[in-house]
Formats: sequence, structure tokens, C-alpha cells
Amino acid sequence: MITHKQSQNFLIAEIHNQVSNSEIDKLIINWVPSHVGINVNEKADIAAKTALVHGKGLTVDLTPQEAIRKIGCTLWKETIQEVKNNCINWDRDLNDSITATARKPWFKTEKYRLRPYDIKLINRLMTGYTYNKSFLHLMHSHISNMCNSCNIIDTPNHAIFECSKYRQLRDDFHIFEKFNNIDEVLTTKNPQHFQELISFIYKAKLDKAL
Ligand SMILES: [Zn+2]
Repeated sequence: MITHKQSQNFLIAEIHNQVSNSEIDKLIINWVPSHVGINVNEKADIAAKTALVHGKGLTVDLTPQEAIRKIGCTLWKETIQEVKNNCINWDRDLNDSITATARKPWFKTEKYRLRPYDIKLINRLMTGYTYNKSFLHLMHSHISNMCNSCNIIDTPNHAIFECSKYRQLRDDFHIFEKFNNIDEVLTTKNPQHFQELISFIYKAKLDKAL
């Protein structure tokens, strides 16, 4: 099945895609005798056999990419465990260096007390994918990228730090004394500054425009 160039099977198609997008110029496919001892394979085998006996397909709530990621994670954990079990002189430092440390997103720490909408807003500012005119203009969904008041390009930084419309409002917020632009505020990762930035954005009614 895998040697056929066209396939309706998504797994086969995925293998074809991976191979054609890689540097691989020769691929050898080996038959593997069994999945004895490989935990996830055993589980897959039991699931497949159960499905066969009951005569209906399994419903899986994962996309192929999610499934591949999940299998990768499980295999990694099992490999680490196996190495630990088999190495007599297992070094704790080595353990720390090869164990993948889960990296939490910035807002998943105790420090932040932000609402989900505020987190999305900060994330949009961090990534640059905002509803701001200059970005929408780039995406061809907004005619003009100029600020109506200042007649210069309306970026998120312009709206928050420079635009003449909000000059007076800025006086109530300390972030404008401490920082010169939006990037400086975002890189602090300081909950207090983020909270102040969000308050300013709401006061200026800019939340729908960012
Ligand atoms: Zn302006």
C-alpha cells in the first residue's frame, strides 16, 4: 500500500508527505516482527483487536497530528524509564538534562490574575496578530492603514504609545512614564504592568482594535 504514489489512507498519505518534504532520497521499509514489550504498540494492538471483535471502528477525538504528538510523548517517557531501569549507574544530573521540562505558557503562573479575554489580548500584542488597521491592511481586509487623527501608519504601538487621541488619558498610567514602547512593556512579563496596559486599552476603548 505504501509503495503506491496515491493513497486514500491518511496515514499512508502522511508518510508520503513527510518523505517528499524531507531530504530523504531512499527509503527502506522493514517489516517488524511484533510489538511485544512496546507499551503503546500493545495498547494499539488491543484497541484494534477489540474493534475487530465488536465489528465497529474506534472513535478517536484526535487529529492525526495530535495523535502523532501524543504517541511521541508517550514513547519519550517510556524510553527514559527504560534507560533508567537498565542503567545501573544512572546519573541524576543526566536525568534532568534529558527529561523534557514542560514549558508553561507565560500566563499559566500564579502571578497572573488575568481574564481569558485579557490573556488573548496580550497574546495578540505579543505575536503581532492584532485587529489593528496596519495588520488588517496587510491582510487586505482594511482599506487604509493610516490613523485618522495623526495621519501616520496606525500600528498597535502608535495607538497605545503615540496617538494624540489618548495623550491626556496616558497621564493616569505609570507605564507611560517607565516605558517608551509596547515591546518594552511586554518583555517585562510583569503582571502589574500588563494589568495597567490592559486597563489603558479598555479606557481608550482600543480592545476591539487590537
Ligand atoms: Zn494616531
